[in-house]
Amino acid sequence: MNRLLSKVIFVAISIFLISCVAKKPIVSESSIIVNKESEASKWFAANSNRPPKLRAFLKKMPKGGDLHTHVSGAVYAESYLKWAADENLCVNPTTAAISEKNHAPCNEITEVPITNAFQNSELYGHLIDKLSLRNFKYANQSGHDQFFEAFAKFNGGTKGMMIAELSNRAAKQNIAYLEMMLSIGKKFSKKFSKQVKFNGDIGATYNKLIAAGLQNTIVNGQQELAQHEQQATEVLKCNTVNAQPGCSVERRYVLQIIRIKNPSRVFSQLVYAFEMVKADLLAVGLNMVAPEDDVVSLKDYDLHMKMVGYLSKQYPNVSISLHAGELTLGLVPPKQLTDHIQKAVTIANAKRIGHGVDIFYEDNPFQLMRNMKAKELLVEICLSSNDLILGVKGEQHPFPEYLEAGVPVTLATDDEGISRIDLTHEYQRAVQDYNLTYPEVKTLVRNSIHYSFLAGESLWTDRSYQQLNKICQQSNSDSCKLFLQKNDKANMQWKLEQQFVKFENSEWF
Ligand SMILES: [Zn+2]
Repeated sequence: MNRLLSKVIFVAISIFLISCVAKKPIVSESSIIVNKESEASKWFAANSNRPPKLRAFLKKMPKGGDLHTHVSGAVYAESYLKWAADENLCVNPTTAAISEKNHAPCNEITEVPITNAFQNSELYGHLIDKLSLRNFKYANQSGHDQFFEAFAKFNGGTKGMMIAELSNRAAKQNIAYLEMMLSIGKKFSKKFSKQVKFNGDIGATYNKLIAAGLQNTIVNGQQELAQHEQQATEVLKCNTVNAQPGCSVERRYVLQIIRIKNPSRVFSQLVYAFEMVKADLLAVGLNMVAPEDDVVSLKDYDLHMKMVGYLSKQYPNVSISLHAGELTLGLVPPKQLTDHIQKAVTIANAKRIGHGVDIFYEDNPFQLMRNMKAKELLVEICLSSNDLILGVKGEQHPFPEYLEAGVPVTLATDDEGISRIDLTHEYQRAVQDYNLTYPEVKTLVRNSIHYSFLAGESLWTDRSYQQLNKICQQSNSDSCKLFLQKNDKANMQWKLEQQFVKFENSEWF
């Protein structure tokens, strides 16, 4: 962007934001902004039922952040195959499981060199289908099983390469921020879980883990995360003349706890994640992952919520998002559908809920929604994932009910590689299935930063996005500039508003 355009946008956004504060008609230069927003709204209304044009609009539209994306599931199968071929790994041509290490020669009975797939289109196509949900309707298993089985088959590449792929894809869709789920410090949490067994007393086990020196290994977790970041920066060639688009994307991490492990292992992972988030600026939150309908996840759900609840009080500044309610009738018996979201909210003190699909099967769903609204608790809506894994879509999905109830929501991808989607697709799907207007879409986008776990205060007083934080109520003031420097969240929100102004004033539509 040239300097003049930057200045025009800065002035425009300042006037626009101040007019929001003053709640009065916008005049002079700012009228351009409002008129352009209204032009965008009109174009949107006229074309929202025309999917190809809508896709182009939504791709270019600033989308803020993707708050629910698992790094390994977000990588496309084509990348795994390429990386695995570069490392001369082997693959089972039937199941598509890629070998963990280069153990050439490949097992003659069960494996072939993965490089074979690059000379055999049929094999290549079959592997892509098995490593994702492409063509899964022709597979002899459910979307749910194919989805979760894929994770165990991925090998090849480094976390840095994966993060770089996600960053580039985000940048090309005008996504400025990624909050990516990743496992860190696995070997340490495993080691401590063997040393300190969970004995049924959460507080006592916590004290033993701390006494055993778990905190001393957090520095190793920090090094691990820093290494992933460093690798990603190198792959993206940031700070060079060949810098790739992904360099512009701000990245933070949500640490994963695998919940299908035994209680000792789960608790050790939890304590590790809480400690790590407390210590590291890049790690901004934590989440429990793996299928919620797994036999262990169901059996230990209440225990897990109590563990997280206990730790949330020991670490009040650590942000928690939980996969909860990623269930539906038939997948599990009715009694399993009655309280997962409720317990994540009231016992585990989650700030955000991933999925929340089964809310209307819960006891007192309307009361629960009122509670979520009052607590300003955001639901990360993953439409394609819910369709492919649970078979819940369209009017069966509670997304419009969350909107109607005033519960904050945003759209997220979950696992865009396995699902063969991107965030633009999720916005397109939401607009088409639920007749959203452009201002409603903008609110979903703004929610993705307002409810992100980025550090610091919000630019806005609340999620009506009408009133600025009082420090920034004077245009271009030094105190506002300082405020933006000190508050990552507000800074990202300011950038997002700049992007909206630029987008709505662009010529293309
Ligand atoms: Zn997820």
